[in-house]
Amino acid sequence: MVTVTTVDTLQEAAASSAGQAVFLGGGTLVMRSVNYGEQAVSQIVRLRSAAALRGIRADGARILIGAAATMGDILRSSDVSFLHPVARQVGGPAIRNMATVGGNIFAPHPYGDFAVALLALDARLHLSDGSETDLESLLASRDSERRLVESVSIVRPSGDDFRFRKVSRVKPKGVSVMSLAAWLPRSAGRISGARIAFGAMAPTPVRARAAEAALEGAALDETGVSGALSAATQGLNPPDDGLASGWYRSQVAPVHLKRLLLGGGSRP
Ligand SMILES: Cc1cc2nc3c(=O)[nH]c(=O)nc-3n(C[C@H](O)[C@H](O)[C@H](O)COP(=O)(O)OP(=O)(O)OC[C@H]3O[C@@H](n4cnc5c(N)ncnc54)[C@H](O)[C@@H]3O)c2cc1C
Repeated sequence: MVTVTTVDTLQEAAASSAGQAVFLGGGTLVMRSVNYGEQAVSQIVRLRSAAALRGIRADGARILIGAAATMGDILRSSDVSFLHPVARQVGGPAIRNMATVGGNIFAPHPYGDFAVALLALDARLHLSDGSETDLESLLASRDSERRLVESVSIVRPSGDDFRFRKVSRVKPKGVSVMSLAAWLPRSAGRISGARIAFGAMAPTPVRARAAEAALEGAALDETGVSGALSAATQGLNPPDDGLASGWYRSQVAPVHLKRLLLGGGSRP
């Protein structure tokens, strides 16, 4: 039997989900678990209305995205048009209509394509207890310490500084063999402070720190990116699953990273 508790605020939901209860976002994964009879979900806590957490708005130099914003909401917002190629590649239309940004951050391997983009963009998370954290820290502890996310804040990347690429076997809506995102700020034609994130290359989205370091001061051309390609999977131990072996993922990662860096990522 599954019990469902309906509350008015995220804070009340956090108090309930501190125990056994699972917080319900759009429900694409939680309700699939329930429908398949997974014993892990016996208590659900949901918001009476998530409308207040669905907004997407400019906040000074940053953009604030409510955790309950769906992939469809992202696609309807011109404020985050740079994220449209990401949202468009999460599942099919029915999934995008329900799948939330908050849920994507907690979606297990090999899901989490949107979180990969947010990690590359150095997203800050506003949590239900009023505290803030960066996405990388939250991902590091997400399976041991469940915290509810209220909103996500990112800086709008300029020009073509942000790129995203999803590699899947089934087009157009297959699950990721891997996803890649890069934020490549440049100064006088040289990369400065690059962030590169991989999805499906570890239990959670991760940064490719060795590749980032190799890009520092480099030009965005064949020669400039060669060090990053050699270091693409340094420190990573990609998992095996039904889509691909870890070995295969390691072998093809530099190829896709090169396409991301020099080809400008995926096109809608
Ligand atoms: C057929 C199918 C195809 C899919 N394809 C893709 C794909 O291509 N790419 C991809 O990335 N994902 C995919 N997914 C996975 C999933 O749909 C998405 O990751 C989605 O964004 C999850 O969001 P949700 O709101 O539905 O999460 P839910 O199912 O509601 O919740 C998932 C988890 O996140 C937690 N959670 C939800 N909101 C919050 C919050 N605000 N704070 C803290 N925890 C929260 C829940 O408690 C739960 O543990 C697919 C799923 C299905 C069923």
